[in-house]
Amino acid sequence: MTSATPFPRGRRAKHYADIPDEKWYDWRWQMSNRLNTVGELAQVLDLSEPEREALAAKNLFRVDITPYFASLIDPADPHDPIRQQVIPTAREMVPFKSMMEDSLAEDRHSPVPGLVHRYPDRVLMLVTTQCASYCRYCTRSRIVGDPTQTFSRKEFEAQIEYLERTPQVRDVLLSGGDPLVLAPKLLEEIISRLRAIPHIEIIRLGSRVPVFLPMRVTAELADMLQKYHPIWMNIHVNHPNEISGELADACDRLTRAGVPLGNQSVLLAGVNDSVHIQRKLVHDLVRMRVRPYYLYQCDLVEGAGHFRTTVAKGIEIIEGLRGHTSGYAVPHFIVDGPGGGGKIPVMPNYVVSQAPGKVILRNYEGFITTYTEPDDYNPHAVAPLEDKVLPRPEPGQEGVFGLLQGRDMFIKPAKFDDVHARGGGTHRLKADDKKWQPLGIGHAPGLIEGQADDAPEPPQLTGTEK
Ligand code: SF4
Repeated sequence: MTSATPFPRGRRAKHYADIPDEKWYDWRWQMSNRLNTVGELAQVLDLSEPEREALAAKNLFRVDITPYFASLIDPADPHDPIRQQVIPTAREMVPFKSMMEDSLAEDRHSPVPGLVHRYPDRVLMLVTTQCASYCRYCTRSRIVGDPTQTFSRKEFEAQIEYLERTPQVRDVLLSGGDPLVLAPKLLEEIISRLRAIPHIEIIRLGSRVPVFLPMRVTAELADMLQKYHPIWMNIHVNHPNEISGELADACDRLTRAGVPLGNQSVLLAGVNDSVHIQRKLVHDLVRMRVRPYYLYQCDLVEGAGHFRTTVAKGIEIIEGLRGHTSGYAVPHFIVDGPGGGGKIPVMPNYVVSQAPGKVILRNYEGFITTYTEPDDYNPHAVAPLEDKVLPRPEPGQEGVFGLLQGRDMFIKPAKFDDVHARGGGTHRLKADDKKWQPLGIGHAPGLIEGQADDAPEPPQLTGTEK
């Protein structure tokens, strides 16, 4: 296990000094020797009273830490950023306003158990509830770590059956839990079943295994994955202390197997809510050829209250990254909309003002400049080329883009018209719906004769079109 990475390797807590390398670098040994009791953790760390109190609590979100990951903790530092992510404290038992069990409404947006179909062309497929170690802020703590919530073979078949009959899905993200803790044969079966569905173009894996258990990223795993390309993967690193020579080697094996790597991190109070820590993190990631992809605002999920920051802190961090370092190293800062709104990017405002023909912009240094827009721009010139590309239908999810495209004129909250009818019922001034149909928008029958009625509906994709 050697490579030329600049990151430290071979770190072990004193307790593991005599474990032979064959065991230490065996992912199965790491999994079966995870730490989860006060007694086991006390062999590696001095536990504080709030930590002991939490570990003794009933209904505690599962604790399990691989010996490898526990060894990255500085046992003498109560603020150690890795320790805070995996060792429970009494603070996680404190409820907070707006806290929810399923704050992203994932289960509500699942047509079958474990398959979240939130966006038009992609799904999140939960394939296990198990992880190599457990993060105290986990968004899916309602099911993760609980063996009774594990997805059955019948539910897996229902997920596959849904995907086979839903050709609008072109991208499947395997997550959980962590797909890389599955038995190797089962993981390959899932991936090969997805690959056999013609309209699924890409398969993504969301995994923290390279961080918790880099020895699981074996040459055999990399060989298996590359049989099913295009495969993409997002890993999950929150703090530079999680980056080791072992993680760098795992990333190297994956990128050499042609798996593009991104990183998702969560903004965590007292752990990584600092521009300087985030700069170090993104620089170390790009050195490993891992593209910083998302920085998430911490969700409104039970147990995570003490990790939450203001949204303003995330904006400040992006202000401190954009322009100050390579664009490749700047993640999108995302608030995952509570209630199931999906990922909403948030950033500093770089547009200072606008007028017809001009946009006034500011850069990261405060330099203010003018972009002069063309006065003869023809947005229809591309139409002959655009006609050759099959539009992808987004039934019911066109959103603001649908307004820009002229497919709709309004987006109304549910029951908007009922509220504004004020219980008055139908009367002579409401008899003709045509009076509210805007000319040239959408496909209102009979309204735009010879135009909207003739406009072609976007073709529906079949199972074989890409
Ligand atoms: S690895 Fe992901 S799914 Fe598992 S506990 Fe951490 S955040 Fe939750």
